[in-house]
Amino acid sequence: MTDGTFDDILASIGEAGQRMTEIDAAEAGAGNISVCLADPIAVPAAFDVVREILLPYPSPALAGHTVVTTGSGCRLRSLAGAPERHLGVVVVHEGGMAGTLHHARNGEFTRPTVEFNSHLAVHEDRARRLALPFHAIVHAQPLHLTLLSNVPEYQHTAALNDRLLRWQAETIVHLAEGIGYLPFMVPGSDELTMANLVSLRHHQLVLWAKHGVMARSDVSVLAACDRIEYAETAARYEYLNLAIGGRATGLTDAELSRIVRTFGITTDLVRHPAPDD
Ligand SMILES: [Zn+2]
Repeated sequence: MTDGTFDDILASIGEAGQRMTEIDAAEAGAGNISVCLADPIAVPAAFDVVREILLPYPSPALAGHTVVTTGSGCRLRSLAGAPERHLGVVVVHEGGMAGTLHHARNGEFTRPTVEFNSHLAVHEDRARRLALPFHAIVHAQPLHLTLLSNVPEYQHTAALNDRLLRWQAETIVHLAEGIGYLPFMVPGSDELTMANLVSLRHHQLVLWAKHGVMARSDVSVLAACDRIEYAETAARYEYLNLAIGGRATGLTDAELSRIVRTFGITTDLVRHPAPDD
């Protein structure tokens, strides 16, 4: 999507909203999406209201960047029909403390999502360290992942990955850094914003206990959605296995080892059996 037009990006945000709805990860106003673009864009005429806003997270590395975000109370399922009605476009000012917000006069958007601070924090961190031209973030609330985050045996990054990466061969391929786990923190809090930023340095997907997930991608909005779908499918397998009394083995360490060696995946999540095993 880095070479796509702005309309393509809006369409991909709409498709992401649809996909998160289809996997039961975006009930009512749950979930939010944002995209950060380094190059200046011509804001389409549909975004005909313009006002200055203070940013909820200081973002100096995003000066001159454009951040497209879903609105507070936005239903992700409604995005695909008319993305511009549900999105705001923020052009960040020098210094990163404020920006110019554009949105549609006749749309549903009134202000950015309440999670805008967490989105900005991750965009800012990635932009400052990597100078990325494109960066996407999707927050959603997938049922099975969130359920498992309530179970003590899954409330640790290592244990969570041990249990979830064993169900499908491609999970370790697409989530080679695994899933970060964060204990419960109040939605929108500074505490969650900072813990999430740090965890997303090491992982491309983070599970917020008793709440949902946040995924990032340097490539496209849908690539961030893919990570959520792979992890949620794994959590669904785990749930189904619990329902049959834990009788399924999942992929063994030896099988996972063969997968990562075959595909040349760099990961520290797989235990390689000793050569004489
Ligand atoms: Zn949420």
